[in-house]
Amino acid sequence: MILVRCAACAAPLGLSSGKKCGRCSTRYCGPACQEQHWKEGGHDKLCRKIKKAGGAEQFNANHCYTVAVAVAAEACADDTKGQTCYICTQALHWKTKEGLVRMCACRGTAGFAHVSCLAEQAKISVAEALENNLDGERWSSRWGRWDTCSLCEQEYHGDVRCALGWACWKTYVGRSEREGLRVPAMNVLGNGLDDARYYEDALPVREAELAMKRRLGAGEDSILVVQSNLASTYQFLGRREEALSLRRVVYSGRVNLVGEDHRSTLGAAVNYASTLFALEHYAEARALLRQTIPAAQRVLGENHEITLKMRKVYAQSLCCDPAATLDDLREAVTTLGDTARIARRVLGGSHPFVVDIERSLRGLRAELRADLDAREALEPGDVTSIREAMEAMVPGDA
Ligand SMILES: [Zn+2]
Ligand SMILES: [Zn+2]
Ligand SMILES: [Zn+2]
Ligand SMILES: [Zn+2]
Repeated sequence: MILVRCAACAAPLGLSSGKKCGRCSTRYCGPACQEQHWKEGGHDKLCRKIKKAGGAEQFNANHCYTVAVAVAAEACADDTKGQTCYICTQALHWKTKEGLVRMCACRGTAGFAHVSCLAEQAKISVAEALENNLDGERWSSRWGRWDTCSLCEQEYHGDVRCALGWACWKTYVGRSEREGLRVPAMNVLGNGLDDARYYEDALPVREAELAMKRRLGAGEDSILVVQSNLASTYQFLGRREEALSLRRVVYSGRVNLVGEDHRSTLGAAVNYASTLFALEHYAEARALLRQTIPAAQRVLGENHEITLKMRKVYAQSLCCDPAATLDDLREAVTTLGDTARIARRVLGGSHPFVVDIERSLRGLRAELRADLDAREALEPGDVTSIREAMEAMVPGDA
């Protein structure tokens, strides 16, 4: 399912079209490519090996997993020097000889491990959960071992999350869809690929997950989650129009499903507004946010990350709008300064959102300075108060 291109010519095949090798299920665009791949592409030598591994998807998953583990261990090499795995107590894995990783919130000497050991633990944890028929929270926490550290309870990130995504997919790729493990495994893989910024690879995984869920008749809630992930992947790939139309679908889907004031609807709203902003639909972004910010303030509170993000996007869409008046700019500056102040207090100076908002504030300030100079030259007016507010926005530097 993750192999969506012809093995010989790399033409895109989508999720179900094409021709398969009768023995190993390797996919081709047609008989010509299949024949050529057998005679000249080395498939005559590989076919038996692929079949023995469990077919083309399994073979590919195993291969991608091995590569991803090496990449993750390499990325963590400096951090893990001289350490040992908290699971098997060795520096090098006894069987695979892979190095250690650590990309979570563990500090000091805690949390160093081999991806293989983490994967083995997750596999056992899920198998036990199945055996004991766990559901709800208890099932999710077991399944969560595939992407969450059991020591610090924070999600893994970057290359480690990606390697665990391949580990999860490799473990359940051969299961039938109805068993309920294959589709969630695809989700773990998609999240891992996105987190490590392999957006091109994440896209077919997201699309396949959505197609499978539709086929299995999954609930509206779970379809909306995949659509939202897919929209993010589109956006990362710069396919903004596709991202925007999915964001719109997800937002209105949430409104219909749980109402305007629900936390998940507000989360969808801020994503939708951010995409509108990215596509320079400033007025539309503001109209949406004027409607949803009061709800977020009421339901989630002034300090919640969603509320803060909404206010940030609102202010940015005011500043960036060529049609903005002086009053708009004044409002934008006040809102941004206020949001940055709350974010720093609530989330701490090193939180990604705070770093991000302070970066935009600096950029915005430079733009506003130039804009105010130009405005002042054209029509002398009261820009002093805006200047003052603007200079006070980012503490410490100018
Ligand atoms: Zn082909
Ligand atoms: Zn074959
Ligand atoms: Zn280990
Ligand atoms: Zn940890």
